[in-house]
Amino acid sequence: MSAGVISHQTAPMARDDQVYDAVRRRVVLFPLPFQGHISPMLHLAELLHARGLAVTVLHTDFNAPDPARHPEFAFVPIRETLPDGAASPETDILAQLLALNGACEAPFRDALASLLLGQRPPDPDVACVVVDGQWYTALGAASGLGLPVLTLRTESAATFRSMLAFPRLRDAGYLPIKDERLDELVAELEPLRARDLIRIDGSDEDALRGFIARIADAMRVSASGVVLNTFDAIEGLELAKIQDELSCPAFAVGPLHRMCRAPAEHSLHEPDRGCLAWLDAHPPRSVLYVSLGSVASVGPGVFEEMAWGLASSGVPFLWVVRPGSVHGTEGTPRMPDGVDEEVRSRGKVVTWAPQREVLAHKAIGAFWSHCGWNSTLESICEGVPVLAQPCFADQTVNARYLTHQWGVGLELGDVIERATVAETVRMLMTRREGDRVREKARQLKLQADQCVATSLAIDNLAQYMLSI
Ligand code: UDP
Repeated sequence: MSAGVISHQTAPMARDDQVYDAVRRRVVLFPLPFQGHISPMLHLAELLHARGLAVTVLHTDFNAPDPARHPEFAFVPIRETLPDGAASPETDILAQLLALNGACEAPFRDALASLLLGQRPPDPDVACVVVDGQWYTALGAASGLGLPVLTLRTESAATFRSMLAFPRLRDAGYLPIKDERLDELVAELEPLRARDLIRIDGSDEDALRGFIARIADAMRVSASGVVLNTFDAIEGLELAKIQDELSCPAFAVGPLHRMCRAPAEHSLHEPDRGCLAWLDAHPPRSVLYVSLGSVASVGPGVFEEMAWGLASSGVPFLWVVRPGSVHGTEGTPRMPDGVDEEVRSRGKVVTWAPQREVLAHKAIGAFWSHCGWNSTLESICEGVPVLAQPCFADQTVNARYLTHQWGVGLELGDVIERATVAETVRMLMTRREGDRVREKARQLKLQADQCVATSLAIDNLAQYMLSI
């Protein structure tokens, strides 16, 4: 491991008295307003607060977090005005991220400047700002106000590393991704193949490359530190390589939801807790949990194949079907004719689940997942093997690591087709191949537990925040 990585094994011991000197200093956080970004940022906030830092959360009105969940934090809306369509789930995610960055830069700067102006002793002064890694405009704005600013990466170290490598991948001919090179290993990013690199179907490749370049440039120019929601046991090599490329320290503080003693629920939707009682009625490891996260959606044809595949697998399942998660449907998508009966006898469909509790439930045998990074960490921490159906962005990277690096998942394949679905589900849930993957998942969970029990990374981060 290179000298600068402040992670679990290499962490210098933080003395308690040093950490608790943090009392009466403030950290200002600015989460990106999506489920997979709000949760890790607020978990980081909980951990910093527990180490004596006061916390202010600046936030957009769009997908605003619920202040009632954290009376101990100050919540300040930046009062942005978004262009038409920018907040709509129908809008392409890249266009949404570009619009959010454009529209929030000035209101974020103004809100932060007012906060600084309003600061009066004995108020805690602002030690530093932490912005989500995708807020490249906010990163520059906070630094422009003279504040140290850190960036929270809510994706894996492998994904972040691939983002840093993007300009080189173009020179090496991997980008734009070519059909004939899809299965080629990317020389500097193994085990990733060209097909695993970040992509957003339907989005312009140049726009994606431009977006990633802005993120990397802003970070290189303005960040005093990089905080990653990952840990050495799963990504030690990737972390070391990242540190070699950065001139500021990287802190591997994950898995954030497990580092919190009693992590608060930060759901933007009301979870259907009835599914926990439904799970109680099932034998251990018998149920397949199916969820494609908070953003991904599928076409009606894929939805139908998923439904029929589940129905004919013979395996009990708990399926999260979000309103709007099938293209062209406004509300909650209807089950295809004929599948309803199967669902009533062997399955349960909900619009939103208390996912962490579901994955921790003994009845869960595997997780059919889109492989978002939070879902990936949550399944690793519960020792639940994964059936990988990556949809876009970093999900292909995570799927590759789950299936090939850590060996805790099986691929569902590019084409979702009912017979393959049913066969792969049965393989994972009921056959020896599934047992092998499940055993690896169990071992990886033990490593995660060990990391959680011994990590000093958050203490070191808090200490660093007070020193810059
Ligand atoms: N989640 C949940 N209930 C659901 C579906 C998802 O609580 O029914 C949570 C899940 O636990 C995770 C987050 O939503 O923390 C999704 O984040 P992830 O990075 O996995 O995917 P994204 O939604 O960002 O694509």
